[in-house]
Amino acid sequence: MRTSVNYSGSVDADTGEAAGVLCQVGLRPTAQRRIVLVSLLHCSSALTAQELHGRLRDGGRPVGLSTIYRTLWALADAGALHTFARMNEVAFRRCADGPHEHLICLRCGRIDDVPPAGPAPPGSSRADTAGFTVQSRRTDVYGICASCLCHQA
Ligand SMILES: [Zn+2]
Ligand SMILES: [Zn+2]
Repeated sequence: MRTSVNYSGSVDADTGEAAGVLCQVGLRPTAQRRIVLVSLLHCSSALTAQELHGRLRDGGRPVGLSTIYRTLWALADAGALHTFARMNEVAFRRCADGPHEHLICLRCGRIDDVPPAGPAPPGSSRADTAGFTVQSRRTDVYGICASCLCHQA
């Protein structure tokens, strides 16, 4: 099956955006990091290294699987990508900047970022009562997306 990399913006603008993101997280904008990041910019679902490898190959920009794997983890470690467990693999996604929750469709794999419901008032969460200092928080909400719901009706 042939899948193409979805460039909805201009490639130049995407490359510029990718370079900006890399700079923001303190990574050198190498060609490979930019290629990997650009291909995730307009992707609503998360991709595994294997899937990204296939897309880049089909898009005529083959990058070695181990390079993709290393690059994805470097980007995730730097905070430029979020990781999602999928079966025995890890999928990677470029999310919105700033705090957000993930709405994950169990049917099509689509992931949407939504602004968090708002911080809990101090002293109200279990972390607070357990004497735990929260440094970051992540919420994944699983369900069926609007378009899948529409198609099943
Ligand atoms: Zn995210
Ligand atoms: Zn869906």
